[in-house]
Amino acid sequence: MYDFLIVGSGLFGATFAHLASKRGKKCLVIDKRPHLGGNVYCEKVEGINVHKYGAHIFHTNNKVVWDFVNSLVPFNRYTNSPVANYHGKLYNLPFNMNTFYQMWGVITPEEARAKIEEQKADAVAKMKADGVSEPRNLEEQGLCLVGKDIFEKLIKEYTEKQWGRPCSDLPAFIIKRLPVRFVFDNNYFNDAYQGIPMGSYNKLTEALLNGVDCKTNTDFFNSEYKDWRKYAAQLVYTGPIDEYFGYQYGKLDWRTVSFKTRVVDTPNYQGNAVVNYTSHEVPYTRIIEHKHFEMFGQTLYDCPKTVLSEEYSTEYKDGMEPYYPVNDEKNNQLAEQYRLLAAQERDVLFGGRLAEYKYYDMAPIVEKVLNMFQ
Ligand SMILES: Cc1cc2nc3c(=O)[nH]c(=O)nc-3n(C[C@H](O)[C@H](O)[C@H](O)COP(=O)(O)OP(=O)(O)OC[C@H]3O[C@@H](n4cnc5c(N)ncnc54)[C@H](O)[C@@H]3O)c2cc1C
Repeated sequence: MYDFLIVGSGLFGATFAHLASKRGKKCLVIDKRPHLGGNVYCEKVEGINVHKYGAHIFHTNNKVVWDFVNSLVPFNRYTNSPVANYHGKLYNLPFNMNTFYQMWGVITPEEARAKIEEQKADAVAKMKADGVSEPRNLEEQGLCLVGKDIFEKLIKEYTEKQWGRPCSDLPAFIIKRLPVRFVFDNNYFNDAYQGIPMGSYNKLTEALLNGVDCKTNTDFFNSEYKDWRKYAAQLVYTGPIDEYFGYQYGKLDWRTVSFKTRVVDTPNYQGNAVVNYTSHEVPYTRIIEHKHFEMFGQTLYDCPKTVLSEEYSTEYKDGMEPYYPVNDEKNNQLAEQYRLLAAQERDVLFGGRLAEYKYYDMAPIVEKVLNMFQ
């Protein structure tokens, strides 16, 4: 008998298993995938750790979380500073003084601020002329927040590729804020700590699950563990919540991304881990060059090849990876119905992005589990 049967070996399940085991509890972790680690799993290709389920950058302001993960595996100094390519011209992201210099040749923060304010005012005046006081869609919202040049070159077509619809057909609330920085700072995150585990996220998973019984290729619903009370006193379930309840109210929608990954015979293809392609002329949204997450300086060139993943926004269908919850009214209501059922389940804890139907970054998942054990 186990104290806990844990369904899912992602960060939620693995952190839970780690902390419970440290307190003397016996845990069994099962996962339907052929590997442990959930979405942070990395695959070694040509000596490079490839983020199989999409690029993952750990970032947090919480020192307790940072110290906890670093006590398991040291993290490197990777700093996320994406670049945007629009018709072959490069712009730094997030929007900062480097971007404004590249866009308009402005040198000082005052000049940049004036340019943005002028373009925002144009957008507001145009809406007023049409008899509109509040942005009616994402296009108007974006124009009012940052003005024509930034919106049209760096946001509009990228967003349309992501959502598969014109910005004029998307609701304004999708972009509430578009932060602009009047300093030369390309660091995407504002958090105090960020990095990648040295040797890949698999090292983190291995450290979390060290000494814990684990079974891969084991689907909870199609295995003996479905009768989990025979095996454990409590169940920790991190799979999709609608599946747990047999989709009795219907299926929740997801958004997904598909990846085309290839090996290229050059040590350094794009000079950066993340390059966004913000125009329609390129069908993918980004290219991730995985080696830049962990190889810096000469080590980049000591590894003669590189691995690239083109990312395509794709309509979710059954059998695909459920990546992002669709937090519209219909799906939020459906998720709430399932949460009410979940609250009535005895001895079952529902946690993680699939069971809560909620997008979480990695650090908040770790924080949540740490807090549960406090
Ligand atoms: C494309 C993408 C990019 C991301 N990038 C970042 C980033 O840069 N920085 C960041 O902080 N966060 C990022 N995240 C978020 C991060 O992936 C999540 O915070 C993390 O995966 C949550 O862990 P989890 O355990 O809840 O879920 P998961 O990692 O998905 O783990 C759930 C596990 O449950 C298993 N499972 C499901 N059903 C069953 C079943 N029936 N039987 C057995 N096993 C089952 C699954 O196989 C899976 O392994 C990103 C997410 C996505 C989708």
